[in-house]
Amino acid sequence: MLWDIDHTLISVNRLSRELYRAVFENLVGRSPTRLAPMAGRTERAITADTLRLHGIDPTEELVRAFTTALGRAFDEHRHELAERGRELPGARSVLTALADEPVIQSVLTGNMEQIARHKLVAFDLDGYVDLSVGAFGMDGAERPPLVRLAQTRAEAKYGERFDARSTVLIGDTPHDVLAGHEGGARVVAVATGTSDEAALRAAGAELVLPDLTDTEAVVQAVLGVTRR
Ligand SMILES: [Mg+2]
Repeated sequence: MLWDIDHTLISVNRLSRELYRAVFENLVGRSPTRLAPMAGRTERAITADTLRLHGIDPTEELVRAFTTALGRAFDEHRHELAERGRELPGARSVLTALADEPVIQSVLTGNMEQIARHKLVAFDLDGYVDLSVGAFGMDGAERPPLVRLAQTRAEAKYGERFDARSTVLIGDTPHDVLAGHEGGARVVAVATGTSDEAALRAAGAELVLPDLTDTEAVVQAVLGVTRR
């Protein structure tokens, strides 16, 4: 079970954008005129594209400097995450219900690991997921290969084989749906981000829900796959 974080479990959108802007300004010496699209994308891709939008070559060295500074900014502002963000309805209930099932819960997120950890800890959700077998926004620019990466990590730790029949991904964007289908997972999509149910259905998600409040529907979708 691979959870997306932003707009699936929690929402801290404004703070993330503020920190991106502050880091850009510190590093580049001017305010960014705009940020690259963030929804459903990896930190690596957002950073590189934001630099490109300002005519700056996103060398590996610069992307590293940017994301290191971004991680530090989240370290400093982590106490604001819970204050300014919110846990999404039903998220904790589903995490709790799945904790009683033979399911390994982790994350597949565009966040770099350090930031993912801060976000989950801020909302006291980190205890439900095994972050050591997750995949994160600095593991690659594109999302689909992250699925196999997370599966490989889970296989190494738990000694089981994970494939498209035994992996479910939950996310809020067409990028999540594509990642699951290209990477090897079935997808439950929730319309708690900027994409509506029609867009998520068009992307091909196996199950589309307005949010996570129907605990039973999500749990059944997950178990229906894992017990196949
Ligand atoms: Mg998301």
